[in-house]
Amino acid sequence: MPTVKELRCADVMPGCTFVTTGANDDEVMRKIAQHAKEKHNIREMTPDLTKKVKSAIKAKQLA
Ligand SMILES: [Zn+2]
Repeated sequence: MPTVKELRCADVMPGCTFVTTGANDDEVMRKIAQHAKEKHNIREMTPDLTKKVKSAIKAKQLA
């Protein structure tokens, strides 16, 4: 059963509606880092922020 990794930005940045998916955590991390830079003016993912994002990434099964 194929799964994707999904991250809702709202789990890290309350109020944000951005949702991204990727084949693995690394891909999701790259996408959220780009989004954070563009939309939240976060130039760098700190270790603390990275930890928060990783714990918010959820596996989602594709139907
Ligand atoms: Zn966001």
